[in-house]
Amino acid sequence: MEEVPTLCPNCKNIISQIDISCPKCGKKVKDTSLTTGIQKQFFLYFLSFFLPYFAIWPAIKYLRQPNPTSKKVGVVAIILIITSLLLSVYFTKTLLNSLNSKLDYYRGLN
Ligand SMILES: [Zn+2]
Repeated sequence: MEEVPTLCPNCKNIISQIDISCPKCGKKVKDTSLTTGIQKQFFLYFLSFFLPYFAIWPAIKYLRQPNPTSKKVGVVAIILIITSLLLSVYFTKTLLNSLNSKLDYYRGLN
C-alpha cells in the first residue's frame, strides 16, 4: 500500500501520516482528540494485555471521553488490564510456589 502524501493546509509542505503538526510551519494538521478506530482499539487492547502498566493512562483517557464508544473502549481496556495483572500475579505465585517446593526438596536432601 502506497502512502498518500498529505499537504499542509497552511504552507502546502508535504507532511507524513504520523505528523501531528506541520514540521515546517508548525500548524496542527491532525485532530488529536481520541478516535475509536478499530486499529487504535486493537492496539490499546493489545497494550492492556501485554504491557498493562503502559495502558493504564490511555485507558483512563478513553474512559473520560464524553462519547459512549470511547467509554466502552476504556472499560474493555481496564478489564483487560485487570485480567492481565491478575494473571501475572497468579503466574508469579505459581512460580514462587514451585521454587519453594524445589527448595524444600533440596533442603530435605541435606
Ligand atoms: Zn505547514
